[in-house]
Amino acid sequence: MTTHILPVTPDSLAWAKELIAEGEVVAFHTETVYGLGADAANDDAVRKVFALKGRPADNPLIAHVHPDYDISRLVETPAWTACLREKFLPGPLTMVYPSKGRVSAFVSCGLPTLSIRVPSSPVAQAFLRAVDCPIAAPSANRSKHVSPVTAQHVYDDFAGEIPLILDGGACSGGIESTVLDCTGNVPLILRAGLVTREMVAQEVGACEYYTLHDGEKPRSPGMAYRHYAPSCRTAFFAADDVQGAVRCYLAEAGRGGAPVLLCEHAAAAALPECRSLDLGSTPEEMASNLYAHLRTGERTASLLIGIEPKGRGGVMAGVRNRLLRAFGQNAGSDHET
Ligand code: AMP
Ligand code: MG
Repeated sequence: MTTHILPVTPDSLAWAKELIAEGEVVAFHTETVYGLGADAANDDAVRKVFALKGRPADNPLIAHVHPDYDISRLVETPAWTACLREKFLPGPLTMVYPSKGRVSAFVSCGLPTLSIRVPSSPVAQAFLRAVDCPIAAPSANRSKHVSPVTAQHVYDDFAGEIPLILDGGACSGGIESTVLDCTGNVPLILRAGLVTREMVAQEVGACEYYTLHDGEKPRSPGMAYRHYAPSCRTAFFAADDVQGAVRCYLAEAGRGGAPVLLCEHAAAAALPECRSLDLGSTPEEMASNLYAHLRTGERTASLLIGIEPKGRGGVMAGVRNRLLRAFGQNAGSDHET
């Protein structure tokens, strides 16, 4: 199979619609990361997404719809959730609701809930309007690999295995959507992202991070897996151990390797003699650069050396969670920060 990378045109949208109707999988740009989409009502198409990614069968997918799609066809929407949709959608917020069971049971892996996202990307919206049905889509990367923020990243993981990537250039947000459990009386953040705990709490009075207690079944199964891992060797140093990172860098260079630092701007600027991938200064810049830098790092470094950024809270909760997990650090309780 040839994999085509196409911009949104009447022709590419007509083809995307045909492919989805035939049970095929189409990758598409969103404002967070690229998605790998299939008709959410088609069991075989949804299973194909799991198979392509090598995704564990208990890690549910998000149903994507356009802004005019009536989500009450799919889920129960508690009254208190309306102001969140009003404020944050379309945008990088996924809301988990009680499901009405109208899509394939494989989307939610048998859970009684369904997560729904309304992307703001014009490419995603054009695609979702063209098909006019819920599209089940995880990030368009092989399971556990770094999420894709360009069409080329999707191509690198799935060339020859999917027919079409709808190209919208680089994803501006850079990290996956915030996943918010809206099935109780207080919203719970299952995955941190650009819509922060503080922003949600401002709208509805309260918002907590979901934390997994020992022996409990995770409410968001994806939390249990190592994610976002670059394919090269890695090392990681705390924000207060820059000297350790430098020693590690020099040792690798001394062995004839090609070490690269991945760190925030202040650290990169303080170490001009080291090759580094500069994440930037603001939390939004760091989110936007993170996955592209991890992919560049794995292509160009023999050893990618991460240095923990100093910031905490807000968007940094999402950035730190991805970064720590990419470097195999335990980010389980990192939500607290
Ligand atoms: P990805 O598709 O790779 O962005 O991952 C989707 C994330 O949303 C994973 O962490 C899932 O565990 C989570 N998720 C999707 N649907 C649900 C659901 N119904 N309940 C809880 N978490 C969900
Ligand atoms: Mg993913």
